[in-house]
Parts: sequence; structure tokens; C-alpha cells
Amino acid sequence: MSDFKKLRNEMVETQIITRGISDKKVINILRKIPREKFIDKKFIEEAYDDHPIPIGENQTISQPYIVALMTELLRLKGNEKILEIGTGSGYQTAILAELSKEVYSIERISSLYEKTKKTLQELGYKNIFLFNSDGSEGLKDFAPYDRIIVTAAGNEIPQPLEEQLAENGRIVMPVGDRFMQNLIMADKINNKLHIINYGAVTFVPLIGKHGISI
Ligand code: SAH
Repeated sequence: MSDFKKLRNEMVETQIITRGISDKKVINILRKIPREKFIDKKFIEEAYDDHPIPIGENQTISQPYIVALMTELLRLKGNEKILEIGTGSGYQTAILAELSKEVYSIERISSLYEKTKKTLQELGYKNIFLFNSDGSEGLKDFAPYDRIIVTAAGNEIPQPLEEQLAENGRIVMPVGDRFMQNLIMADKINNKLHIINYGAVTFVPLIGKHGISI
């Protein structure tokens, strides 16, 4: 069995810091969270490699750098209520939970939802609330959210998510077509989204009412 702590620190040095992630809180959390716990046994030796890894149901856990970049872009202070769409393995969810007040996270595939619920319970998180539904519709009951992160690609920012974002809130999401997207960050100021593009990325599609059109 590999020395995961060593691999984790190497991952932070070679994939995260050298590529320009500088938020100390994000770096420290990446050094702490056991990414191998979110990965199927058969891929466990690849847990800290520089690429996405299958998590079942044709879905993937994002590459560590992308997780770090999206987390840094959210610029968390610790008191935020976050909505996450695309729980997947729960690795990003755990990172968000460490850096904010509470995380509401939605996964549409029930087998992934069940599995990840167990993983996050075992790790002892009390400020994560998981839902098994179509996240392209958001989660009206607990809105508004200070931050929204979508880890699956849409053609545009889904209208319900824009509505459920708080004033002065921020959303980070890949936007484009099925095969190629841009990572965008949008701030809601005076009820209008101000968008900044952070360049090309590739994510699995956001499937649902306000998701990607096929
Ligand atoms: N952050 C996750 C990413 C998983 S891949 C991780 O790193 O593990 C994206 C996830 O989004 C998949 O699990 C997929 O099932 C989910 N997804 C796609 N469309 C969705 C929707 N409309 N609502 C909720 N989850 C969705």
C-alpha cells in the first residue's frame, strides 16, 4: 500500500502550488483530506495522479488541480452557505465543508449518492447535506446561497441557479458544449451576473431540465 500522506504532499507541490494556486487555506486542506478514501479500490494507487479517475456510472472525480482552482475561485471565508451540483465522489464536497459553514450538495445518480453519503458520514462531516435530485433546478428550499459550484458542464448557467444565488454571491461552473467548456466565475451584483472566463476545461455533462442539450 502506498504512503498516501507522502503522495498527497507531492501532489500539492507539483500539481497545485507550481501551477499558481496560492490560497493558503485551500493548500492546507488539500494536504489534509484523504483523497484515496473517495476512490474505488481498483484505482486507489492513482488517487493522487494528475488526471480525473472513474467513480462508476460513467462519471469521474475531477483532477486535483481543477478541484483546487474551483475552490480558490470561490474565495471562501468560512461563513458561507454553499450549493454544490454534482456530488460525485464527495471529495470536492468535503473540501468545501472544511472551508465554509454548510454545504448543500446534489447528485442525480442514486447509487453515487448512496455511496458518497456513507463515505462522508464515515469521515464525520456534520455540515454537509446531500440530496438525490436534478441539481440543474437547484434547491429552492434552502436558497439563497452565498456560493454555487457546479462540477458538471452546462450550455449556460441554469436560470434556477442564478435565481438562488444571493446578492454579492458567486457561482463557479464549466459552460460550453458536451465536449469542451470554459470554466467561468460569475458574481451577482445588483441582481446581474458579471462573468469572468478562466479558460478551457472538460467536464462530464450536467444532465437535467436546465442541463446540457444533446
Ligand atoms: N465533484 C465531483 C464531480 C463528479 S462528476 C467529484 O470530483 O467527484 C459530475 C457529477 O455530476 C456526476 O456524479 C454526475 O452524476 C453529476 N450530475 C450530472 N448532472 C447532474 C444534475 N443535473 N444534478 C445533480 N448531479 C448531476
